[in-house]
Amino acid sequence: MSCEVNNLKFNADGLIPAIVQDVRSKEVLMLAYMNAESLHKTLETGETWFYSRSRQELWHKGATSGNIQKVKEVFYDCDADALLVMVEQQGVACHTGEKTCFHNRVDGIKENQDVQGNCSQVRNQTTDRTPAGAEILYEVYDVIADRYVERPEGSYTTYLFNKGLDKILKKVGEEAAEVIIGAKNRNKAEVVYEVADLLYHLLVLLKEQDIKPDDVFAELGKRR
Ligand code: AMP
Ligand code: ZN
Ligand code: ZN
Ligand code: ZN
Repeated sequence: MSCEVNNLKFNADGLIPAIVQDVRSKEVLMLAYMNAESLHKTLETGETWFYSRSRQELWHKGATSGNIQKVKEVFYDCDADALLVMVEQQGVACHTGEKTCFHNRVDGIKENQDVQGNCSQVRNQTTDRTPAGAEILYEVYDVIADRYVERPEGSYTTYLFNKGLDKILKKVGEEAAEVIIGAKNRNKAEVVYEVADLLYHLLVLLKEQDIKPDDVFAELGKRR
């Protein structure tokens, strides 16, 4: 182990909290504890290992669920008593089947309160979503990639893949034309709707061409 790792401050039980974050979407996935051995295994294998406080044993994340985390980078904080593990998550992080363990929102932050000022309550984020950010592109692409493999019946994406490249290209052309019409009409709602349609069809096209969204983002990044 490198000397940086030796300087980490494990608590009295020999543990250090590790925040796990999705390297692409930057979503915080989970919090778990590592001891020196699980950290060592994490660095050696490139997959996350934790120490389960309830079971009092090392735990290879994904060993039973298959939801393995590929480690891309590990950071420690200013006072070296916490870790941040950047991962590529396979499947979902939470054992409840939710994408992230942090899917329950606590309400009642003063500024956000309405006039009545209700006391704090916990809400489930899945039925009450925060607005999506750019990471939605990854989510949509992941769904498209699943459809590509599984080809479920009744899915529009399945239909596009079964029809093939020419159909996908035709749709990209049509959606681009619809964006142009909306913009000419100065109809914001229409432009938003049609750009969303176009982005979806572009993601389908990327999948068909075996190109990852990251390749496009990297190209944009080069132009900074
Ligand atoms: P897994 O490591 O995903 O194969 O799951 C094995 C067991 O680890 C589960 O049954 C849970 O007890 C526990 N576990 C998995 N993921 C989490 C998580 N994100 N937070 C807490 N416990 C977890
Ligand atoms: Zn700290
Ligand atoms: Zn969880
Ligand atoms: Zn459209």
